[in-house]
Order: sequence, then structure tokens, then C-alpha cells
Amino acid sequence: MTILVIAEHTNAALAAATLNTVAAAAKIGGDIHVLVAGSNAGAAAEAAAKIAGVAKVLVADNAAYANQLPENVAPLVAELGKGYSHILAAATSNGKNILPRVAAQLDVDQISEIIAVESADTFKRPIYAGNAIATVQSSAAVKVITVRSTGFDPVAAEGGSAAIEAVSGSADAGKSSFVGEELAKSDRPELTAAKIVVSGGRGMGNGDNFKHLYSLADKLGAAVGASRAAVDAGFVPNDMQVGQTGKIVAPQLYIAVGISGAIQHLAGMKDSKVIVAINKDEEAPIFQVADYGLVADLFEAVPELEKLV
Ligand SMILES: Cc1cc2nc3c(=O)[nH]c(=O)nc-3n(C[C@H](O)[C@H](O)[C@H](O)COP(=O)(O)OP(=O)(O)OC[C@H]3O[C@@H](n4cnc5c(N)ncnc54)[C@H](O)[C@@H]3O)c2cc1C
Repeated sequence: MTILVIAEHTNAALAAATLNTVAAAAKIGGDIHVLVAGSNAGAAAEAAAKIAGVAKVLVADNAAYANQLPENVAPLVAELGKGYSHILAAATSNGKNILPRVAAQLDVDQISEIIAVESADTFKRPIYAGNAIATVQSSAAVKVITVRSTGFDPVAAEGGSAAIEAVSGSADAGKSSFVGEELAKSDRPELTAAKIVVSGGRGMGNGDNFKHLYSLADKLGAAVGASRAAVDAGFVPNDMQVGQTGKIVAPQLYIAVGISGAIQHLAGMKDSKVIVAINKDEEAPIFQVADYGLVADLFEAVPELEKLV
């Protein structure tokens, strides 16, 4: 049994989610190969070769893979993947863009967002916004799987010494081209990788009031998230949204401020190790999942909290 993990990377560096995906592969068992499809992606390939437990790194280096357009990468993965028992990618925007195409091209079902491995063919995945966990068994010849990174502790980034092998694919499918990108820049940690997340909801009142959360977050070394209501109201950009239709986070500490705790929000953060809720309504559902709840006006509680940090 050999498993192909699709690396998430920027050509220059690997994204942390790759380590969680390799961890899921290790739970399945067998040899683990990592595919780095990119352009001038030598640094990412070398980083992949150092991951603990990886036996081989395949590098498809071609200008057509520079931005990992799924129309170009999916045929490569489908072609290479025929020789593998499993193909895994992180359930990130990138992974969710590539793997369904791979599954279609291999004519198999995709198994989406697994959070646990029961055996080589049986997996657990959340359904109904995380309100139920389905156990799914697949008889597909090649199992195409996206991995929810919060379900698997990352393997060590160092310690391996895998061989690096060049591979080639059909490259440019001619169906799409990369025009440009606008990346949100922040000195704070990335939301899905942060150990502490401070999130604000509609209770913040407006975007300017998020300054209270930014200032607390900077003292804690935390990322700042938001509920969909806060995003929809235009308080903050949508890349800060946590929840069913936002980002899934599972930090050591999640501080929910002025967030009621709708199931769609809980779906994105309820696996956090410690949850703190600050809300002036003692009936707010967020208190049902909170380890520590503070019934208070956030405009008094947050500055008080910041003074104590
Ligand atoms: C298909 C679908 C997908 C969705 N996906 C998401 C998602 O990904 N993420 C998400 O978050 N939501 C999502 N939602 C929306 C979700 O249902 C809720 O509407 C949303 O989470 C509510 O956000 P909120 O808690 O900030 O606002 P509210 O529910 O309005 O809660 C605001 C809270 O702030 C408290 N508050 C107000 N003022 C203060 C104060 N001064 N001090 C302290 N507390 C105060 C109030 O008591 C209240 O509990 C989705 C909905 C649907 C239908």
C-alpha cells in the first residue's frame, strides 16, 4: 500500500497543512510519497523530503504548475495516482479545488474532510455542519481523500531524508490561466495555524471596535477571527470568517467575543482545546460549549482582560 500526499506549498515553502495530511497518511499505514507540483519548487521539495515518515518526494516542476491551477494539476495527480492506494490532500481551498477533479478523472467517489482513520478503507467525517460524524467505508481502487487538518496532529517537519524524484505530466491543459492574486498581509499568525484565536461577532458593533480585539490578540500572539454576521456586516474581511462556510480552527485557546454561538459558527471552532466566551446574554448558546464563560459587556471585559495579559 502506497499513499500519495499532495503537498500544499508556495514553491518556496511548504504549508503547515501538509504535515497534518502526512499524519493522516501515516494513520492509514504504508509508504508515503509526497507530490510537489510547482515551478522552481526546489525549496518546497527539499522541505517535503525532511518530513518525518515520508519515503519519496515526487517533483513536477513546470511553469504550468506555478500557481497550482487545478485544471493543470488534477490531470497530473490522476495520472500519477493510478499507481497508488490512496491520494490525500488537505481540505484547504487548494485541496478542495484539485481533488474532486482527480476523483472524477479516476471515476471514484471522493471522501471529503476526514477527521479520523479507522482502517485503510474506513474513515470518519463530519456531516450536518459537524452535528453528526459519519463513518464511511470505501471500496474504490484508489481512495481520493481530503483531510481536515484540525483532526490530525502534524508530523515532525524535520527528521526524514526522502529521495527526491522528478516527474513530468501533461502540464498546461489550456483551460485556465493565472491572472493575479491579492493576498491579505498580516503580522499576526495565520488563522488556521494559530495557537490562540480571538474572534469577534456582531456584538462588536462595528469594524472600528475590532481594535480592542487586535490589541488583545497582539499581546497574546493570537490570530483574529470573526463570525459570519461580523463579516456580512462589513466589520472585517471575509478571510477572517470562522465556521461552516469559513475557516475551521482548533487552537489551544479560542476566545469568542460578542458571538452568540450559532451551530454554523460552532462547526468551525468547537474542537478548540479551551473555549472562552464573553457575552452579555447569559442565555447565549456559546456558553454551552465554553470551558470558561464571562457574562459581561465586552467593552468593559476585553480592556480589563488586556490589562491582565
Ligand atoms: C448556510 C449557513 C452558513 C453559515 N456559516 C457561518 C459561518 O461559517 N460562520 C459563522 O459565524 N456563521 C455562519 N452562519 C451564520 C450563523 O447562523 C449566525 O447568523 C452567525 O454566526 C451569528 O453571528 P454572531 O454570533 O456574531 O451574531 P449574533 O447571533 O447576532 O450574536 C451577537 C452576540 O453578541 C452579544 N453581544 C452584543 N453586544 C454585546 C456586548 N456589548 N458585550 C457582550 N456581548 C454582546 C449578543 O448577546 C449576541 O449573543 C451561517 C448561516 C447559514 C444559514
